[in-house]
Amino acid sequence: MDYYALPIANLIEEFSKLPGIGRKTAQRLAFYVLESDTKDAEKLANSIINAKEKVKYCSICCNLTDDDPCYICTDKKRDTSTICVVEGPKDVVAMERTREYHGLYHVLHGAISPIENIGPDDIKIRELLERVKDGQIREVILATNPTVEGEATAMYIAKLLKPFEIKTTRIAHGIPVGGDLDYLDEITLSKAMEGRREI
Ligand SMILES: [Zn+2]
Repeated sequence: MDYYALPIANLIEEFSKLPGIGRKTAQRLAFYVLESDTKDAEKLANSIINAKEKVKYCSICCNLTDDDPCYICTDKKRDTSTICVVEGPKDVVAMERTREYHGLYHVLHGAISPIENIGPDDIKIRELLERVKDGQIREVILATNPTVEGEATAMYIAKLLKPFEIKTTRIAHGIPVGGDLDYLDEITLSKAMEGRREI
């Protein structure tokens, strides 16, 4: 590291903070940027800043959006009586890819994890309850990941939803345990939705 000029070292340092990027890849990316046109480098820098400035949480479903409410929440053709609860924005994309779900979503932005010190108040559970309180929702599908944290989160939410007397379902376990929703192919995910059970 010490052999690099400071701006290069800084760039490598920033790239290496990204998920899945090791030291070697960070160096490769840094040199790619340095060797590319100034215009392209500016485009990259601006798209990061632009995304950070424009993208926010939808005030209804908490998904990432540049329009509030998001295009799913405002889509008149969707079934507004069903909410599919997922851990992250990537899971919404995975679910949309199946083309079989036409209800609304709620993005928790994480899962309950005592080990990582993430409690119920650290994710968007309160916002979900507010939506359910409105009384228009007939079914909540808990589609958190099939991990220990995802299961714990689903169970916790199911318990909170009990007093509302709405149908609460959990997607089926055709899904590999420990997997991430967004790594599933469309067919597996469709089947998991079809096979959801009431909890
Ligand atoms: Zn929304």
